[in-house]
Amino acid sequence: MKKNFIYFLFLLALISCKDSSFDRIIPEDDDEFPAPAPPPTPLPYPLDSAFQLKSITSAEAERIRLNQNFTSSDFIPTGWFAEEGSDLVVNLKRLSGDYYPVLIIGTYNRTANPDADVKTYTLTPGNNSIKVEKSGLVYIRYNGELDKNESIVKFVSGVKPAPFYRAGKTSKEDWKGMLNSYTSSPDAVLFGGKMIIVVSRRTALDNIAEDQELLLKTANNIWEWEEDFAGLDNSSALHTRNLHNHLMTESNNPEYYMAAFHYGTFYNASFAAHMLVKPKDINSWGPWHEIGHHHQQASYLWTDLMEVTVNLYSLYVQEKLGREPELKARGTWPSVVSYLALPTPSKNFDGIEDPFVKLAMFRQLWLAFGSDFYTQLHKETREKKLANGATDLQKKEFFMLRACEISGSNLTNFFQKWGMTGVSTVYPKITALGLPIPTSDLTKLQD
Ligand SMILES: [Zn+2]
Repeated sequence: MKKNFIYFLFLLALISCKDSSFDRIIPEDDDEFPAPAPPPTPLPYPLDSAFQLKSITSAEAERIRLNQNFTSSDFIPTGWFAEEGSDLVVNLKRLSGDYYPVLIIGTYNRTANPDADVKTYTLTPGNNSIKVEKSGLVYIRYNGELDKNESIVKFVSGVKPAPFYRAGKTSKEDWKGMLNSYTSSPDAVLFGGKMIIVVSRRTALDNIAEDQELLLKTANNIWEWEEDFAGLDNSSALHTRNLHNHLMTESNNPEYYMAAFHYGTFYNASFAAHMLVKPKDINSWGPWHEIGHHHQQASYLWTDLMEVTVNLYSLYVQEKLGREPELKARGTWPSVVSYLALPTPSKNFDGIEDPFVKLAMFRQLWLAFGSDFYTQLHKETREKKLANGATDLQKKEFFMLRACEISGSNLTNFFQKWGMTGVSTVYPKITALGLPIPTSDLTKLQD
């Protein structure tokens, strides 16, 4: 009887070991780990089970430094998946500092219910037992003063492998193999440079023939160009490039074709997910635009400008690619001319319905003073940004005064011709700058 019971336990151990499908790497001399370690079950396509990490500034602190609206992706993907109801054991070994990493289960913006997309678990030293509340890919966030805390996070048991493409490391054959064999996870993740791309396994499989290296490289180029445009040139701590990643998610939210929100941008599973798997499609106006929302600055984002100034970033990527400027390509300029021809008292910039006609005001400053005008504006905005809760008038004043200072011109006529309203108090301040009036009419400029 006893012998049978031991045999039963042995069988049980064997089954659970097989079930864990997980490569355990546990040093014998480490007392924070249970010993002895069971024999590993090698994965056909190995994933890292241990992550040695240093802390990084929080997404909120970066958002404030950069004067942006949305937090960026202050976490890394692990390549593991956690299933609802399963028991996870995750070990934390702290090497320095007082801050603990956080485990994130689930992918931001994956569904129509952003509040339920992720569950987070703060790890403490030693083994952490986690009852998984919701299935999802596993990420690690480690906030704290930059590089001042260091820890090793190890997945001991309970997680399942997910298809995980790493730029420069994963071969096409391995990617195909992972997508076909790591079937516990409905999602697949691609990671390289700054970009994390999450799509359903199905979407990834359907597009296996695409060039995943080029996809990630292209996504990174978009991000990098937009950061260049935003003056993030590492010339000082304030102008350091965003420390975080950018997550692009296939989303089941039926209400959006694509959108930007905290922690990333998302793309409709039925209509826009092709942009997350095809290099040619990721390199298009939609992703340039959504990523642009992650660069817009709040200090000159007055009401109804959200879908206007965002396109400055898309215009910049378009220009870098040598494509035809959008306002020309979509035939916007005749509408701009018609608007500007209206008698000044009847013009109201804020009342313009077409966001591309509004964009033309910003574009004319670019045509007159170069893209450096905006690069400088971004830098000065980080240096002099307005406090939270600034009014539309304060934001307009901020923009108009900076525009005059940066261009070295008195732009009163320009703004009046564009029908900037409610800003009569700003004009005396522009006059006080004592700048020359431009020798030509900037409202005549076109692509
Ligand atoms: Zn938008």
